[in-house]
Amino acid sequence: MPLGEFELIDRFFREAGCRRGDVVLGVGDDGAILRPPEGFDLIAVSDTLVEGVHFPAGAPARSVGHRALAVNLSDIAAMGAVPAWSLLALTLPRADEAWIKEFAKGFSLLALEHEVSLVGGDTTRGPLMIGVQVIGFVPHGVALRRAGGRPGDVLCISGTPGDAAAGLALLAPDAAAGAISRRARGDETSRVALRARFEYPTPRLELGRQLLDIATACIDVSDGLAGDIGKLAAASGCAAIIDLERVPRSSALAALVRDGVFEEREALRFMLAGGDDYELVFTVPPENREALAELEARGDVWVIGTLVEAEPGTPHVTVRTEQPELQRYLDALPSSFDHFGG
Ligand code: ADP
Ligand code: MG
Repeated sequence: MPLGEFELIDRFFREAGCRRGDVVLGVGDDGAILRPPEGFDLIAVSDTLVEGVHFPAGAPARSVGHRALAVNLSDIAAMGAVPAWSLLALTLPRADEAWIKEFAKGFSLLALEHEVSLVGGDTTRGPLMIGVQVIGFVPHGVALRRAGGRPGDVLCISGTPGDAAAGLALLAPDAAAGAISRRARGDETSRVALRARFEYPTPRLELGRQLLDIATACIDVSDGLAGDIGKLAAASGCAAIIDLERVPRSSALAALVRDGVFEEREALRFMLAGGDDYELVFTVPPENREALAELEARGDVWVIGTLVEAEPGTPHVTVRTEQPELQRYLDALPSSFDHFGG
């Protein structure tokens, strides 16, 4: 017998994630009753994944469950907040028990890791689509924003951009680009590492909280490094300069360029304009350089550029290189993904 809506919720989502003392009433009523802590602001975020748009059709259910929560936790991280509660709007073409079980597992494992409780949601039939909301806390008045960066601040990133876009290219090779046979080459360890960066992104929650004391502005990279830095710069009323030579490249991506799986310029396009990395980009003022040096010494933060005064009529973000021919390529590169073009 196919699984009914209520049985499905009961079996897979009633107990998903973490039990928390601040959830007075969770899944099962018309609404959840939640008790926010005193002295904190609530941070609310929402992100939707659509099959065929945000992940390839037929992607592993566990990865879809992980990503649906991870992309939201990444937004929470970018605000410097701690996540607490989540809501899940699930639209499924059919009640495929095995799929739902794996999806719930992917969602739940990440929720447990970050002490997030699933407090409600909605379940409907239709094309596969997952909408998630997360609510988190940050001490009153100190949340990080995209605005707040100033000329002279350095621009930093929490990881190697481009890996997720490269991983996606391995998972769903573009036949039109004649890339299928080329994509099958390369050493398996690097291929696995890049695919994992797309399928199981790591929200940088711990770093986000540490940045409350250090950063002037922050954004998570979901649509492409250059484009998202442009958004931060615009919100801060500045212009951003990215030094290409300082943008870190993962050893996995470097290895697959050496093996001929990706061309050098493809790799640059993934790094600068590929989305889905969910790394944090943030700005640090001169007075906090010492604290930044500690993060750099840990090996998971890189300085990649600076904020400067915005000049009227010039773009919010420029990628600079010392190689003139490459500079022309970079200047022509679209900087991020936009669902509605433009
Ligand atoms: P209503 O008809 O009042 O909107 P539903 O019957 O749709 O309520 O849902 C019953 C309960 O199950 C509610 O508490 C709702 O928040 C929860 N719920 C429904 N779908 C999900 C889901 N996919 N994940 C978690 N909770 C869910
Ligand atoms: Mg109701």
